[in-house]
Amino acid sequence: MTIADLAMPRPAPGCVLLRMEACGICHSDLFIAGMEKPPVLPLVLGHEGIGKVEGLGEDVTSVAVGDRVGVTFLASSCGACEWCRTGRERYCPRQLNSGYTSPGVMAGFVSVPAQCLVRVPKEMSAVEAAPMCCAGWTAYRAVQEAAARPGATIAIFGMGGLGHLAVQFARHAGLRVAAVDVSEAKLALARGVGAEITVMAENAARTLQKEYGGMDAAVVVTGSTAAAGQALRSLKRCGTAVLVGMAHGPAELPIVDTVLKGITIRGSFLGTRQDLGEVLHLAAAGIVRPHVETHPLTDAPALFERLGRGEIAGRAVISF
Ligand SMILES: [Zn+2]
Ligand SMILES: [Zn+2]
Repeated sequence: MTIADLAMPRPAPGCVLLRMEACGICHSDLFIAGMEKPPVLPLVLGHEGIGKVEGLGEDVTSVAVGDRVGVTFLASSCGACEWCRTGRERYCPRQLNSGYTSPGVMAGFVSVPAQCLVRVPKEMSAVEAAPMCCAGWTAYRAVQEAAARPGATIAIFGMGGLGHLAVQFARHAGLRVAAVDVSEAKLALARGVGAEITVMAENAARTLQKEYGGMDAAVVVTGSTAAAGQALRSLKRCGTAVLVGMAHGPAELPIVDTVLKGITIRGSFLGTRQDLGEVLHLAAAGIVRPHVETHPLTDAPALFERLGRGEIAGRAVISF
C-alpha cells in the first residue's frame, strides 16, 4: 500500500468528478488490501466518502455540479435483474463495488458512477457523515433484519466502526443492548453510546444466557468465526442471528438447537437506498453520532496497521 500521485480523473459517461471531503477507513478496505489478487490494480481504496460534484460525464442528470454526495460500497448495479427490480440492488450479481471492482474514494479527486450516489445535507460535517455511508448504513440494516420489537434484547458482537453505530440504532429502536468485544476500551465506548450490558467476548454466550436469560437477537459485525458461534449460543428460543462480519471459514452450527429452538440465521449486506437516506437523517438530527478520529491522507498506511491490530475505537476518517 502506498500514497501516490495519479492523473486527474475525467468523468466517463454516467460518472461524475468528485472533490472528496472525507473518507472513512473500513475493515473491508483492509480485507481488499490484503487480497493476493485484487480484481483491479493499481486500486484506489475507500468506499465511505463524502464529496462535492465538480464535473459531470455524459448522460448524468441525477446530480448537478455543486451537489454534496455520499459514496458507498455499492458503486453501481445492473438495474435489470430480479434483485435490482425488487429494491435489493445490494444483492445484484453484476454490481460494481467502490474501492474493489470500481475506483475507490480515498483520494482528493475521483470519478465515480452517478447511479448510486446519495445527497448529503450541507450542514452535516463530512467527517461525521462519511462513516454513515458504510458502517452506519450496514449497521442500520442489520439491526432492522434482527426484527426485534421495542423492549427486546439484542447483543451486538464487535464494537468497531459498525458495532458502536449498531448499538445506537438498536437503542433508537427501543431495544435493550448488550455489547460484546474482546477489548475493555471498546466496551467502555459501547457504554458511552448506550449499551446497557457489556460482556467480554470470551464466554459471552454463557454470560448472556445465565445472567440475562438469553437474547432475542444477535448481530455479528466482527469478522470472527468464534463470535458467530457465540452469537448463536447467546440466543433465546425463537431468536434471530444476523451475520454481517466477513469471517473466513465455516462456523460451527448447532443444528439440533437451531431446530428445537426455532432459531433464525440470516446474512445481511449493506442496506437499501431508502435505509441510507434514513441513516443520514438520523445522523444529521444528532440521534446517532459516530465516534471518529480525523487524519490527513498521509496517516492512512499507519491507520490501516492500527485497524488490523484492533486499535481503532469507532472510525478513523481521512479528511481531505
Ligand atoms: Zn465498509
Ligand atoms: Zn442487478
